[in-house]
Amino acid sequence: MRLSGSEATSIAAQLVLLRQPLEHARARLADVLDSPECGAERIDEAVVTWFAAPNSYTAEDLVEIAAHGSPVVLELLLRRALDLGARLAEPGEFTERAFLAGKLDLTQAEAVRDLIDAQTLTQARQAASQMGGALSRRVQPLKQALVELIALLEAGIDFAEDDVDVAPQVEIARRIGELEPPLVALEASFARGRIIHDGLTLAIVGRPNAGKSSLFNRLVERDRAIVTAVPGTTRDLVTERISLDGIPLELVDTAGLRESFEEVEQLGIARSREALADAALVLVVLDATQPLNDEERELLAAVEGRPAIVAINKSDLAEMSEVKDDLSVTHAAGIAALPTSALTGEGIAALRERIMALATGGAASEPGLLTSLRHQQAITAARSALSDAAQANSSKIPHEMILIDLYRALWALDSLTGQTTPDDILNLIFSTFCIGK
Ligand code: GDP
Repeated sequence: MRLSGSEATSIAAQLVLLRQPLEHARARLADVLDSPECGAERIDEAVVTWFAAPNSYTAEDLVEIAAHGSPVVLELLLRRALDLGARLAEPGEFTERAFLAGKLDLTQAEAVRDLIDAQTLTQARQAASQMGGALSRRVQPLKQALVELIALLEAGIDFAEDDVDVAPQVEIARRIGELEPPLVALEASFARGRIIHDGLTLAIVGRPNAGKSSLFNRLVERDRAIVTAVPGTTRDLVTERISLDGIPLELVDTAGLRESFEEVEQLGIARSREALADAALVLVVLDATQPLNDEERELLAAVEGRPAIVAINKSDLAEMSEVKDDLSVTHAAGIAALPTSALTGEGIAALRERIMALATGGAASEPGLLTSLRHQQAITAARSALSDAAQANSSKIPHEMILIDLYRALWALDSLTGQTTPDDILNLIFSTFCIGK
C-alpha cells in the first residue's frame, strides 16, 4: 500500500504499530493489528518505508507499507486508511503527481506505463531509456535553438525604433533551416518506435498445402497450428504472438486462398482476405513443386507495393524447376523470393532476417525514438509551424508575424514534454495507467 501527501506519515502511524520511528528511506518493521483498540491481536508483520518530501517519487511525503499480501489484511489496511482520511488513488495518479511536481516530464511519465506494459526485453529497454529522458534530451537542444531565435527576433522588434536590424533575413532562414534535419530525423524515428511499442501483424498467405502452417510453426517454434497433408485444413485464422528480436510480431496463419463451395472453408477464405487487408506485412508462401496458378499470380499482384516477402517453400523437394520459370512474376512485382524448407529448416533464418528488415524498414536503433502518435503529431506540428515561419521570412513579412509561427513551433515541442499539454490530454494519458503507479 502506497500513501502520498502531507498526511501520509500520520495516517501510516495510526494504521500499523511501528516498532521504531519512521526515518527517511529506511525500512521499518511494524505490526498490523486486527483492530485499532488495545488488546488487539497481530494479524501480519509489515515493512514500512517513508520517503520524505521532496525526495520521493511524487515529491510529496510518501509511505509504502509492504505486508505479506493476504487480501483480507490488505483490505483491512485499505478500509482503515480510508477511515483515517485517505482516498483511493486514480489510475496513474502517483506518476501524475510526480509529473505535476516536475520530477518527470510527460515522455518520461509515459515511459513508466510503457515499461510496466512491456512484453519483450527490447520494449523494456526502449521504455527504460525514455524514462531516463532519452527523448527529452533529443528535443531539448531544438527547443533551445528555437528560444534563441525567438529572443533574437523579439530583440529586433524592441530595438526597431533605433533602426537596428538585429536579425537579417538570411540569418533567420539559416536558423530555421538548421532545425529541419533533426526534426525530420525525429519524425522518421517513429517508424521504428511505433513497431517496438505496438508490434505488428504478419499474415501468412498462399494456396492450400504450400506449407503455410509448417512455416508458421517454424517461426513460432511450437506446434501451434495443426499441420496435415490434406489441402485446406487451416480453416480458421490461427494467430500467435512471437517476439522476433524483441519486436512483438503477431503471426496470422490463414486458410488457403482458394475458391471453394464448402461453407466452412469459405468462411476461412473470407477471414484470410480480411487478415491480408489488416496485416502490416505479408508472407506469401509458394510451393516449389507446383507451377504458379492464377490465384497465386493474383495474390502476388495484390501484394505489389506492400511490404511483402515471398517464400518458395519445399525447397528440399524441388530444384525449383516448377516455379523457377515463373519467378519473373515475383521480380516484376518487385519482391525478391526466398527459398525455404519448413521441413529441413533451410532458409528459415534468412526468412526471420527478412521479416525483421521489413518490419523495421531497415531503420537502425537510435536513442530517443518517438513511440506514440501523440509524439509524432507534436513533431509534425512543430515542422509545419517552422515551414510557415520560413515562408513568412522569405516573403519579408514583419517579424511579429514570423514570431507567431515560431511560438507555435515552440508550443508544439513543449506539448511533447508536457509543459503545454492541455489537461484533457493529460487525463487521457494518465487514465491508461494502472492504479497504484
Ligand atoms: P498449408 O495448407 O499451406 O498450411 O500447408 P501445411 O503446412 O499444412 O503443409 C502441407 C504439407 O506439406 C504437410 O504434409 C507438410 O508436412 C508438408 N510440407 C510443408 N512444408 C514443407 C517443406 O518445406 N518440405 C516438404 N518436403 N514438405 C513440406
